[in-house]
Amino acid sequence: MTEQSAAAAARATVYGYPRQGRNRELKKAVEGYWKGRVDAAALRETAAGLRRTNWRQLADAGIHEVPSGDFSYYDHVLDTSVMVGAVPERHRAAVDADETQGYFAMARGTQDVAPLEMTKWFDTNYHYLVPELGPDAVFAADSTKQVAELTEALALGLTARPVLLGPVTYLLLAKPAPGVAADFEPLTLLDRLLPVYAEILADLRAAGADWVQLDEPALVQDRTPAELTAVARTYRELGGAADRPKLLVASYFGRLGDALPVLARAPVDGLALDFTESGAANLESLAAVGGLPGKRLVAGVVDGRNIWINDFEKSLATLGTLLGLAGQVDVSASCSLLHVPLDATAEGDIDPEIVRWLAFARQKSAEIATLARALTEGTDAITAELAANRAALASRAGSALTRDPAVRARAAAVTDADGRRSQPYAVRTAAQRAHLRLPLLPTTTIGSFPQTTELRTARADLRKGRIETAGYEERIREEIREVVTFQEKTGIDVLVHGEPERNDMVQYFAEQLTGYVATRHGWVQSYGTRYVRPPVLVGDISRPEPMTVRWTSYAQSLTDRPVKGMLTGPVTMLAWSFVRDDQPLGDTARQVALALRDEVDDLEAAGTSVIQVDEPALRETLPLRAADHAGYLAWATESFRLTTAGVRPETQIHTHMCYAEFGDIVQAIDDLDADVISLEAARSHMQVAGELASHGYPREAGPGVYDIHSPRVPSAEEATALLRKGLEAIPAERLWVNPDCGLKTRGWPETRASLENLVTAARAIRTGL
Ligand code: GLN
Ligand code: ZN
Repeated sequence: MTEQSAAAAARATVYGYPRQGRNRELKKAVEGYWKGRVDAAALRETAAGLRRTNWRQLADAGIHEVPSGDFSYYDHVLDTSVMVGAVPERHRAAVDADETQGYFAMARGTQDVAPLEMTKWFDTNYHYLVPELGPDAVFAADSTKQVAELTEALALGLTARPVLLGPVTYLLLAKPAPGVAADFEPLTLLDRLLPVYAEILADLRAAGADWVQLDEPALVQDRTPAELTAVARTYRELGGAADRPKLLVASYFGRLGDALPVLARAPVDGLALDFTESGAANLESLAAVGGLPGKRLVAGVVDGRNIWINDFEKSLATLGTLLGLAGQVDVSASCSLLHVPLDATAEGDIDPEIVRWLAFARQKSAEIATLARALTEGTDAITAELAANRAALASRAGSALTRDPAVRARAAAVTDADGRRSQPYAVRTAAQRAHLRLPLLPTTTIGSFPQTTELRTARADLRKGRIETAGYEERIREEIREVVTFQEKTGIDVLVHGEPERNDMVQYFAEQLTGYVATRHGWVQSYGTRYVRPPVLVGDISRPEPMTVRWTSYAQSLTDRPVKGMLTGPVTMLAWSFVRDDQPLGDTARQVALALRDEVDDLEAAGTSVIQVDEPALRETLPLRAADHAGYLAWATESFRLTTAGVRPETQIHTHMCYAEFGDIVQAIDDLDADVISLEAARSHMQVAGELASHGYPREAGPGVYDIHSPRVPSAEEATALLRKGLEAIPAERLWVNPDCGLKTRGWPETRASLENLVTAARAIRTGL
C-alpha cells in the first residue's frame, strides 16, 4: 500500500446518520408535537439543529462529502412518497390542510383514517411505511425537503450529496393501494415516475448539488430479468437527462449479483457497493465486468450494520484491489449509519476493554476518514491509527472476555441426538394430553399482560436506587397474583405469569447471560419515534443461574392450572442484538441455545409442564436471497431444537411468531419440532390456519383471534366466527384459542373484556361440537 499511490484523492463519505440526536431530542420534539406541547416551528427548529450537529460531527470526523436529505421526522420511505406526490387518497385532505399534521397522519393514522402499513426495511430492524399505489397513480415532484436540506448543508460550507431512495426500489417496496387488485405491480408505474425523478434531480442540481445518490438496495435481492430490464431503462433515462447532477447509484445489505453488470453498464457516474462480508462477492463481480473505468466507486468497507471496529488492514487490502478497478475510489460504510447507535464513548458502564472494540456512528465516520486518508496519502499517513487498530483487534481476539473454554467444549460436544426429542410428536401429543388434561380448544395467552405505568415506574425507581430490590420484587409478585387471579376467574386453561419483570423480551435475558453486554445510550431507530437498544453479543454465552424459574414457579404456586414458562428463543436473541462477527452466526446461536436449554430443563424440573419459546424473528431474519435460505434455516431450526429437546415427552413445547406471512417457511416451522405454535391471524381472518393446513402442518396451532395491535375489543361472536373459520383448516383436537401476540402494550380494561370474550367463544364452540 505504501508504494501504491492513488491517482485521485479518495473521499470519505457516508449515506446517512442517526437522526435522533445525542439525547433523543427528535423523539421528544416529535412526540411533544403530537401532544400539542411543541409547535410546528419549534419542531422544525429542533430538527434543523440536529441536522447541523450531525453535519458538523461528520465534518469534524474527517468526512469530505456529507449526505443530505437522509434526515426524517419519521421515515425516509414516507418522505419519498411525499417527494413524488404519492399521498394516499384517504390522507389527501389532511395533507392539504396541514402538511406536517398530514405527514404524521399518514405515518400513524387518525381517529378516522388508517395509517400506511409498516414493514421491515430489508433484513434490518428498521421499519418503513409502505407506499400504496394503483394503476391510476399520478406522481408530482416535490423537491422542497431535499432542496432545503441540501441548502442548509451547503450553507455550512460543506460538500453535500443529496441521498434519495431510487425509483426502482421505491416501486418494488410499494404495495397495491386499498381497492386495487392484489396482483397489481407498482413497477408498471415506472415510466410515470421517472420524469418526476428527473425533475427532482434537476432541482437539486440547480440548488448546488454536484452529485446525487440514488439508493437501490432492492437490487441485492433476487430480481427477475424483467425487473433488471426496468433497472437498465431507469438509469438509461435518468442518466441521459441534460440538466442532471452526477449520479451515484448505491446498493447495500449484500451482493448485487445479476444487477451489477446492469448498473456497471448504465450511463451513471458512479456506484456505491457493499464490500463487507455480506457483499464480498461484489469484488469478484466487479472485476468480472472489467470494473468501472473512469467512474466513481464508493466502497462500503466499514460495516454499517454492526458495532465492531473495522479491520484496517483487511479494508486497505480490499481498497487496494479496488483502486485497479475504478477511476476514483472513495470510502464509506456498507450502508447508512442509521442502523447503529451514535457514540460508543458514551458507554461509561461498559468495560473499557470492550469499548475499545466498539465503533458506533461517530467512530465509524472516523474510521472511514482514516481509510480514505491512507488511500490518498499511503499507509504511512495513518501509522498511529493502524497501530491502535491492530492493538484493539488483538485485544479482542485474545481476550478472555470473548472465550470461555467450558462453553466451547460444550458446544463442540453437541450431537444430533441433543437436538432431538426422545419421542416423535405423535407419541408426545398423547402423553401431553394425558398429563395436561386440557379441554378441546384450550385457551391461553402469548405471555405478557399489560405493562402498567406503575410497573415501568417501579423498574425506573429500582434502576435509580429509589426503591430496594425487595420492594421491587414484591411489586412484581403482586402483579403476578393479579394476573393469575384474573386468568383463573376468566377460565383460561393454560396460564402465564404475565412477564411483569421484563423490560424487553431480549434485553431481559441478555442482562442475565454472561457474554452479553447491554448499552445505556445505544439507541437505534426501530420506527418513527420508537427506538430500541439492542444488546451486544460480545463473548461466549453462558447462564450463571436460572433466569425465569422463580417467577414461573411463584405463579404456579398460586394455581392448580398449568402455568406456561416463557422464554425468548435463540434466533430472536440474535436477531434483536448486535452479533459477533468473529465466528459464524450458527456458532453464536448454538451457545445461546445451550444456555436457554438449561433454563428449559430447570423450568421442567421445577414443575412446569408447558414451556413457550418465542421466535418472532425466525421469518424476519431470513436472508435476502433465496440461495442463502437453506444455510440460515439449518442453524436457526437446530438452535431452537437444541433449546427445547431436553424435556420429557409429556412436557409441551410451544413457540410463537407474530406475523401472518410465512408460507415460505412452513417446512422450517415444522422442523422446529415444537408441539404447539401460536401465530398472528386476527387481521387476516385466519388465513394462516389455511396456509398451515395446505402445507400439511401436522401439529397443534393457535392462530390469533384477538388483534392486540388495536385497543378494539373483539366481541365473543366475532371470536367465535374466527374460530369456526380456523376449524375449517385445523381439526378441533389441534386448535388452540389465543390472542395474536403479547398484551404488554394494551390497557387492562380492553384486555379483560377481550379475554373474557375469547373464553366465551371457545366454550360456545366446545358445546357445539
Ligand atoms: N411472550 C412475548 C409477549 O407476550 C412475545 C412477544 C412477541 O412475540 N414479540 O410479550
Ligand atoms: Zn408476537
